[in-house]
Amino acid sequence: MIAQKLKNTLGKIDGRAKLIAVSKKKSSETVMEAYNAGHRDFGENYVQELVDKYEAMPKDINWHVIGHLQTNKVKFIAPFVHLIHSVDSAKLLKEINKQAKKNERVIHCLLQLQIAKEDTKTGFDQTELLEFIGSDDFKSLENIQIDGLMGMATFTENEKQIAAEFEELHNFSNMLKDKFSMEQLKIRELSMGMSADWELAIAHGSTMVRIGSSIFGTRN
Ligand SMILES: *Cc1c(COP(=O)(O)O)cnc(C)c1O
Repeated sequence: MIAQKLKNTLGKIDGRAKLIAVSKKKSSETVMEAYNAGHRDFGENYVQELVDKYEAMPKDINWHVIGHLQTNKVKFIAPFVHLIHSVDSAKLLKEINKQAKKNERVIHCLLQLQIAKEDTKTGFDQTELLEFIGSDDFKSLENIQIDGLMGMATFTENEKQIAAEFEELHNFSNMLKDKFSMEQLKIRELSMGMSADWELAIAHGSTMVRIGSSIFGTRN
C-alpha cells in the first residue's frame, strides 16, 4: 500500500525535486514500509517522536525536522538530524550552532520565511532575515550551514494566491543567491510544497517537497 503510494508520488515528481516523506504521527512500522521500498528521507514535526523513531529505525535514514522547533529541544536532535527546515528565529539558529559545536559537527539548516498571508504560520519576514544574515552575530556561527529557504503557503483553495506566495519566495531566494556569498550561506535548496500544493511548488522553483498524507494516509 505505502510502497505503491510512494512509487506513484515519486513517479509524478519525476526527479524534479527531492521527496521528503512526512512521517509524523505514523508508527515506525508504517514508516519502515517506505524504508523497505528504498526511501531514506523522512520529515518529522515533534522532537520526542523523532527521537523515538531515530532510536528504533535504521541509522542510514536522513531525518528532516520540518515543524516549529523549540530552542530547549534542539539538544535532543543535534547528534543526528540531517536538515532542519524550520529555523524561524535568530535565537533558534544560535542554539542549533551551540549544540552542533558540542556534538562536533555542522548542522545543515533552511531558514523559514513567512510567506502566507495568515499569522498562524511562523518564520522570518524578508527584512528581518536580511538584517540577520548581514549581522556579525550570523557570521560568528561556525557550526551551521544554511542550504536555502523554506516556506508554507496559505491554507486556501485559491491557487493564484498559493502560486504568488511560492513565486515570492522563489524570487527572494534567487536574490539571496545573487547577493550573498558566505561560508555559512550557500543557497541551493528551496523547500516548499505539501500533499495539496507540491505540483504548484515545483512549477515555482521548489527543490524539496514535503509530502505526508498522500503517501501515509490522513493523520488523526
Ligand atoms: C505535516 C506537514 C507537511 C506534510 O503535510 P501533508 O499535507 O500531509 O502532505 C509538510 N510540511 C510541514 C511543515 C508539515 O507540518
